[in-house]
Amino acid sequence: MLEARALRKTFARTVALDGVSVEIGDGEIVAITGPSGSGKSTLLHCLAGIIRPESGEVHLDGRRVDTLDETGRTSLRRQSFGVVFQSGRLVPELTAQENVALPLLFNRHGRRESLLAARSRLERLGVADCADRRPGELSGGQLQRVAVARALVTGPRVVFADEPTGALDSLAGERVMDELVGTARADGATLVIVTHDNRVAAYADREIALRDGRTTGVTV
Ligand code: ADP
Ligand code: ADP
Repeated sequence: MLEARALRKTFARTVALDGVSVEIGDGEIVAITGPSGSGKSTLLHCLAGIIRPESGEVHLDGRRVDTLDETGRTSLRRQSFGVVFQSGRLVPELTAQENVALPLLFNRHGRRESLLAARSRLERLGVADCADRRPGELSGGQLQRVAVARALVTGPRVVFADEPTGALDSLAGERVMDELVGTARADGATLVIVTHDNRVAAYADREIALRDGRTTGVTV
């Protein structure tokens, strides 16, 4: 169970989160929706231990996430989380296959095994032909699929995705969503997706709608 209680986060004078509480069950697929600037990305970043809220708490299975130091949060992310960022954030010097292998290498898996697992993830997302190319040589849609492969490669307990289909045409978007949702269901992983696209939200079991840094109600 992933749980946030009364999260508050401000940037300068902007209140990004104004007392947000959510509970996300194991294996649940949840869409965080709302207009631009409503705090969706900030909520995702707090849940994933990427940023710390000013007040409030984040718990994973009853264990505090938000009070961990940088090392603790990094190790939690490596062990339990996979994150797909809006803009991909791949390492430009590495090939797509090496980028996808990286989380496994960080978790001390062997190089050969990691590269093989990376290759098979790229194949499932239909971008095996990109394996030996660097991010600078890939299209937006290819980059996003590589980023999804990288987030899933360790078989994380919780996958966070920030507008995972934002840069994609509808066919590529469907492929990414099918792979994200299919993998989460098969592994019993929890999936938390930030989106303003109704077609993406339709994949979720539940929607958490935000407006001005607050939840507006939870729909099924
Ligand atoms: P959403 O994902 O719903 O578009 P965000 O969580 O990105 O919303 O942002 C919520 C509010 O906080 C917005 O007003 C945004 O401009 C502001 N914000 C987010 N991150 C930062 C930051 N690093 N510095 C300053 N303001 C930020
Ligand atoms: P991405 O597409 O990579 O998610 P975002 O637009 O969400 O890009 O924001 C990129 C970075 O800029 C994030 O770290 C976010 O917190 C920060 N950010 C968002 N809004 C603002 C803002 N109004 N002022 C400063 N930084 C912001």
